[in-house]
Amino acid sequence: MCGIFGIYNHQDAAELTYLGLYSLQHRGQESAGIVSSNGERFLYKIGAGEVQEVFSKEDLVKLNGRFAIGHVRYSTYGSSDIKNAQPIVVKCSKGFLALAHNGNLVNARYLRNKLEQQGAIFQTTTDSEVILHLISHSKEKNFVDVLKKVLPQLKGAYSLVLLTPNTLYGIRDPYGFRPLVLGKLGKSFILASETCALDIVSAEFIREIEPGEIVEIKDTQLKSYKFANSVRKALCIFEYIYFSRPDSILQGQTIHSVRMKLGKILYRELPTQADIVIPIPDSANSAALGYSQESKIYFNLGFIRNHYIGRTFIQPRQKIRDFSAKIKYNTVKDVLNNKRVVVVDDSIVRGTTSKKLIAMLKSAGSKEIHLRISSAPIIAPCVYGIDTPTKKELIAANYSVEEIRKFLGVTSLYYISINGMVSATNYDETNFCLACFNNNYPVKLKS
Ligand code: AMP
Ligand code: SF4
Repeated sequence: MCGIFGIYNHQDAAELTYLGLYSLQHRGQESAGIVSSNGERFLYKIGAGEVQEVFSKEDLVKLNGRFAIGHVRYSTYGSSDIKNAQPIVVKCSKGFLALAHNGNLVNARYLRNKLEQQGAIFQTTTDSEVILHLISHSKEKNFVDVLKKVLPQLKGAYSLVLLTPNTLYGIRDPYGFRPLVLGKLGKSFILASETCALDIVSAEFIREIEPGEIVEIKDTQLKSYKFANSVRKALCIFEYIYFSRPDSILQGQTIHSVRMKLGKILYRELPTQADIVIPIPDSANSAALGYSQESKIYFNLGFIRNHYIGRTFIQPRQKIRDFSAKIKYNTVKDVLNNKRVVVVDDSIVRGTTSKKLIAMLKSAGSKEIHLRISSAPIIAPCVYGIDTPTKKELIAANYSVEEIRKFLGVTSLYYISINGMVSATNYDETNFCLACFNNNYPVKLKS
């Protein structure tokens, strides 16, 4: 996943980046970093943990300069080593560069081997560092020409913010796997993974960065270049289902409105009778609300989520049944007792969380449990930056819906169809990556 942010020409660049990252925290909690530039050199602070753990007030004061980029990391390719935290800062043949990347390159290993044979020494195990090496190796003089040569060599998913001491670049891969939006705050330009990061700093949304586009922001001017024509678009449909914040706007609509529609379609595809509809909070709230509106079954809160579980949480020595679910969720007994319950969740990955949550519903006295999933069965792993497990661990890749129903111990189980899922977005399937649902990978794994 990962969240990225960049701001050009603002006296409080680092502070606004901090706020932007704060609103993108849901995209990654493993590490956070900000690089600012005073026009000549970079200052930076990068550390493990959530945004508010990493930066102190003093750090933000020290990170002076009118330009900044930031990153929140969620680990995928490359270990969760702090060395892999971003932005990556280097001094190379093109001067000082700082890069923040959201996505995953599928040909990183191939490019890395090639570069190592040419003598490159890598500091991290991330695929993102490969991009900086390719930039440094380029013979082109003009930086946009460098990017136009380098970017077509990358295969896979990449939304990037790239900072030189006085220029900010925003880049989106030709398929547009990951989102990237452009905003404006007075005379400052902002780039961010999601529009919620524009809202927090009261910036105006301008537009999305197009797949295959480079925007260059320099001397208060914005220039746009195309480095590749998109053969097809492949926005990750999981951005709608789970990753993005419900208040963010993607393709002209809020994530919340699409999730509501997913819930409505879920009911229409298999009408079910029940006393209440409850979400697994928070990711399924909007879908459960949509389900309730369409079915006229009352929406209620059967689970309450605790939001305060930090990285430093101490696991109890005492064995407590279903503890990993209990630390995050608790049931509201009188809502559930003796009720026929429709439970809406956004996805089942391994099935381990669902199993524990269902056990909690049963012990709260639910009479019938109808589990409804607002995404289709996940049958294949993601190679474009989402940390899904291998095929072996994906429950729907190995078992039928009926087998999963039995394993979870629910009265009924239904997943939305792929068509239903796509139609909820108001776009057709040629716009999306659906690989984890249909095994059809828009960018092949081979270099
Ligand atoms: P499980 O089936 O136990 O693996 O967990 C499924 C739950 O994890 C779902 O309810 C989602 O809300 C959440 N989820 C789905 N995809 C991801 C992901 N890539 N990273 C973290 N959580 C996820
Ligand atoms: Fe998104 Fe699934 Fe495609 Fe990965 S494989 S980019 S999670 S739709």
